[in-house]
Amino acid sequence: MAATKEYALLCLENPLLDIVANGNQELLDKYDLKPNDAILAEEKHLGIYEELLNNYSAQLIAGGGAQNTARGAQYMLKDNSVVYLGGVGDDKYAAILHDAVKQAGLRAEYRVDKKEKTGRCGVVITGHNRSMCTDLGAANHYDLEHLKSPEVWKLVEGASHYFVGGYHLTVCPPAIQTLAEEAAKNNKVFVFSLSAPFICQFFKDPLDASAPYWDYVIGNETEALAYAESHGVETKDIKEIVKHLASLPKANGKRERVAIITQGTDPTIVSVGGKDVLEFPVHAIDKSLIVDTTGAGDAFAAGFLAGLVDNKSLEQSIDQGQWLAKLGIQQNGAT
Ligand code: ADP
Ligand code: MG
Ligand code: MG
Repeated sequence: MAATKEYALLCLENPLLDIVANGNQELLDKYDLKPNDAILAEEKHLGIYEELLNNYSAQLIAGGGAQNTARGAQYMLKDNSVVYLGGVGDDKYAAILHDAVKQAGLRAEYRVDKKEKTGRCGVVITGHNRSMCTDLGAANHYDLEHLKSPEVWKLVEGASHYFVGGYHLTVCPPAIQTLAEEAAKNNKVFVFSLSAPFICQFFKDPLDASAPYWDYVIGNETEALAYAESHGVETKDIKEIVKHLASLPKANGKRERVAIITQGTDPTIVSVGGKDVLEFPVHAIDKSLIVDTTGAGDAFAAGFLAGLVDNKSLEQSIDQGQWLAKLGIQQNGAT
């Protein structure tokens, strides 16, 4: 059975080092950042990383949405279940990432770029808000050549489930399409995360090219709304958007698409094949126990994927996702 195989789950996205600090409005203004956002850094933002480290006693934490998901899924599964692909530099930041994934028992097959720095994500916390500004660096140089290299391709062939984080659409759509087509051809499971509103808005073409291959698509409510708005789906009703996502054309007719939209403390909305809409209440948690809700969605995806890989039912897998998300938000960072 696929579930008992080694490295059943293969994940692809952008490995990043998060540089996380409590900031203030002045800092947000200085770098022209919104309090709650996820963007790619432009020239004007590049000073923020040193500033966070030097003036705001920032913490360095292994990040990258799908890398956190991969760590979480490995945590839920037996040893040697998850492998993660992405691009890093040859620097001290990469060493921190290596240590973090090793501790989690996650196998990382990084494409190492000698010239580019490991990617950084500046996270400015103001109250309950988080502004994330990513300089992809070496992560932006991931390529098809790495994916198709014999050692990595063997892992691709060996896996039964692929998970691609939407942020990778800004990096290497050909690698995403290659995994997507490989999944459809062999009736493997292809899971895609929408990752951020800007992906739905500004990376529409590669997003839409990957859509027919989504067996599962996961996102949150703001991503669902951004998807609808940028795709002429004229509704703000999350249930309608979930149905729409689930009924988009599909390459592999052997699997019905499942669309899953989480909504923070509100119920998770699911549609299988665009038919009825299911609602799953989240696991209630006392507000005083919440430490950090960033990465809730990544943790949800991790628990959910682990359920799929373990051949659990849709209901059980969603429950497991909510359970892991609940565990995650009681700790700092994506631990
Ligand atoms: P994202 O981090 O992508 O914005 P969400 O905020 O929708 O994702 O959170 C994903 C999941 O995490 C929710 O479906 C829920 O299971 C869990 N979760 C998030 N916030 C809370 C909370 N305050 N209490 C309990 N569960 C939560
Ligand atoms: Mg949220
Ligand atoms: Mg998310």
